[in-house]
Amino acid sequence: MTNVEIAASHERRFGGDFGSRKARDPAGGGRFERAFHRAMYLGIQRLRGRPVGRWMQHLVSWDALDEARYAALARQRLETVLELASAGVPLYRSCAWRKHIASDPRDIARWPLLDRADLIERKNELLAYGAVPALLLARRSSASTGRPVEVLWDRHAVAWSWAAEYHPMLWHGLEIGTRTLRLWGSASLIENFVLNRHFVPADALTPARLEAAVRYLDAFRPQLVWGTPSAVHELARYIGRTGRAEDAFRVPYVKVGGEQLYRFQRDEIVRHLGERLIESYGCTEMGPIAAECPAGSLHVLATNVHVEIFRDGAPARPGEFGEIVATNLVNRAMPLVRYRIGDLGALSPSPCRCGRPQPVLAALRGRAADLVTKTDGTRIHGSILGDALQRCPSDSPLGSAQKVLFEQLDRQRWKVRLEFHRRPDSAALERQVGDLLRDVLGPGCQTEIEIVARIAREPSGKFRYYKVRGGPSRPPESADRPTLH
Ligand SMILES: [Zn+2]
Repeated sequence: MTNVEIAASHERRFGGDFGSRKARDPAGGGRFERAFHRAMYLGIQRLRGRPVGRWMQHLVSWDALDEARYAALARQRLETVLELASAGVPLYRSCAWRKHIASDPRDIARWPLLDRADLIERKNELLAYGAVPALLLARRSSASTGRPVEVLWDRHAVAWSWAAEYHPMLWHGLEIGTRTLRLWGSASLIENFVLNRHFVPADALTPARLEAAVRYLDAFRPQLVWGTPSAVHELARYIGRTGRAEDAFRVPYVKVGGEQLYRFQRDEIVRHLGERLIESYGCTEMGPIAAECPAGSLHVLATNVHVEIFRDGAPARPGEFGEIVATNLVNRAMPLVRYRIGDLGALSPSPCRCGRPQPVLAALRGRAADLVTKTDGTRIHGSILGDALQRCPSDSPLGSAQKVLFEQLDRQRWKVRLEFHRRPDSAALERQVGDLLRDVLGPGCQTEIEIVARIAREPSGKFRYYKVRGGPSRPPESADRPTLH
């Protein structure tokens, strides 16, 4: 079955009841163009020993399983990797692990949690016996949120991770080779050509780059814009602010990932840029973890990654919010078992109404360590500041900023950096920023405003709306759980 047929069969099976629609052919290139790029991409991957196409076909066929069968398959894949990891990875053969898992390594509940520090300091012990680093793909996370991590992936695992990236896009009728404006990732000309992508670097979205992106949308009518929420939001806000006939630049789909997605971003992206926004969730260490279906749920890609939720050091109750702990089921070169990703979320106790068998991840929040302090000493998750931006209409002084960064200087004082393309009235801006921060952080909060030409993104192109002077706050302890709304 070709991917076109697969997409069509998805359309038939899961239907258009939940907002799914057929890919718009006139925009984004025709069927031949997509088939050409897809064949080139899958062919090159096959030559490199990465059977992305074959793995995608498995993933597609597993969509047709019912919930119980899918769960059994995911469990079987989990037990296989646990057995291999316990026998073939030096760290898991050490006393610290053996004393927990020796009696039954296939029981995940016995396994200790693995920290980011373990991955950094004991990386070599996590490499399976017989794995040759020179033959493995090193994936590194950016250093901006702490010390960088590096995970080595074997070829089949790389193929599984790409298959898990592209398979859920078929749920929306988006095939590999779909004409795409990409605001994230690699600048490799060859890679972008093969994947039919136009790449705009998101590390610094200057007006010139945003204008170039708009010109591309206008001239080439891509079917998809794909980037981090903050980068795609900047483009949407730019289109909105420059007062164009917005329909001329609308794309059928926008896919975002790599950062927390805020409601205000979603609203503006849908208003100015894309008809349908698709959220995805993953990380360097695990690859893709969850993807949004046409019904709007984030489905855990549970045949690739096993997800658990922990609260106060123990497994959370069904539906309870807590720390995400993940086990990679595909990377046998460096199997990460019960790895504390550092993000927060909940596993929904109910399946999705779309009928897909994968479990549903709910209430996803960015890094657990991203805590800021209110004036009364309470610690809350910094993303609550991003949520608060929802209250600022785009024609208000703060809402018209191209970017905003809240930086905590001490318990009472905050510096707010703002980037504007058109500067608003200073007094009104100060009043709005002060009111917002006092409302979120307490009445004694003092704010200092600085209007700058550019607020830098992280080298990876990512952006967060808040930071604490001196870098990320310390890792979460049970006493430091953020207050959740
Ligand atoms: Zn669903």
